[in-house]
Amino acid sequence: MAVISIPLTNLAATPLPGGLATARPNLLDLDLKGCEALVTSLGHKAFNGRNLFKWIHKHGVLDFEAMTDLSLGLRTQLHDTTEIRPPRLAEEWPSADGTRKWMMELADGQRVETVLIPLLIPQERRNTLCVSSQVGCALNCSFCATARQGFNRNLTPGEIIGQVWHATRWLGVPPSNVVLMGMGEPLANFDNLVTALSIMQDDLAYMAAKQRVTVSTSGIVPNIYRLAEVSDVSLAVSLHAPNDALRDELVPINRKYPLEVLIPACRNYIGDERRRRVTWEYVMLDGVNDSPTHAKQLIRLLEGTRSKVNLIPFNPFPGSDYRTSPSERIIAFRDRLIRSGLFTTTRKTRGDEISAACGQLVGRVRDRGRRAPAPPAWPLPVVAT
Ligand code: SAH
Repeated sequence: MAVISIPLTNLAATPLPGGLATARPNLLDLDLKGCEALVTSLGHKAFNGRNLFKWIHKHGVLDFEAMTDLSLGLRTQLHDTTEIRPPRLAEEWPSADGTRKWMMELADGQRVETVLIPLLIPQERRNTLCVSSQVGCALNCSFCATARQGFNRNLTPGEIIGQVWHATRWLGVPPSNVVLMGMGEPLANFDNLVTALSIMQDDLAYMAAKQRVTVSTSGIVPNIYRLAEVSDVSLAVSLHAPNDALRDELVPINRKYPLEVLIPACRNYIGDERRRRVTWEYVMLDGVNDSPTHAKQLIRLLEGTRSKVNLIPFNPFPGSDYRTSPSERIIAFRDRLIRSGLFTTTRKTRGDEISAACGQLVGRVRDRGRRAPAPPAWPLPVVAT
């Protein structure tokens, strides 16, 4: 059958090395509206797009033949002109604490990492999925392992949502929380991020409530404003320093968007809704940002902004000179913030023995000389987390 052309700008074929493109657009790149537009462009009623979207995301079906409520004609058209292509699971590392890291291989052989972190309360099957948004990262934060590999490319919407797709198949249900805290800067991949968020939140797909999805940013200020216009997910900001001089050094994007513009952008994001707050991530670096003076500056900086501070013990990686603050200093820092009225938590490091902890995700450019272990058979049985 002849290949028909699909007149949708967001249905681009995935680029492959050497400028080649896969022949077929990937349906994982489409949100509900995109699926409806696609089937309409193929001459069918829009409700078929809803069914198609549900088959892919809610039921995890990749085979058009199995989509029994689509007409045979539509199934044939889809089969002949498109594909549903989640990333390939190349490697998997389970950790003793239940954390599980997956290496996902993309169509061009690039690799990104995704981490599933079960909640520590055994009776509750809740979990958090940490998702990557780019291959590598351009922002060069001085304490982050991903920064060391530089920036390679943005993930497509299908490559972002494909991580959630896989985790959902593995769990048997969608993850309870999704955090964009894997590799990359989500707000530097804005349009693809927004499409992926729309799929995550869709009732026909992963049904993630706004409080259950968190976008973490190093502070791309214009895109914090843009996000406020189109999305209501939770916002976390990698602050890490309470003054510009130190933040310029730790999070270099601060030179472009300093604190005096970052803080108002975050206030604007949470708006007037009393229950919303900004989560500020603050990595505890020994002798760098963890003194009583830093705590005082932080308290002053966040005055008047509804906030939650999340202190993250630094996770070391080969080649980094930083050390994590001693636990007494983390506790003292936390207590100062709490005494001032700031809601403060300390993040428990999970999965560090499999390098799955914050800032340790590095992915890998495909090394054809080395054999990766065989991927697990999918879907695997549902397991309790
Ligand atoms: N680019 C986004 C999201 C990715 S990083 C951002 O900057 O927010 C997710 C979180 O892990 C960020 O707060 C980041 O600053 C933190 N992080 C990075 N490297 C770390 C490390 N080695 N130890 C602890 N946290 C780290």
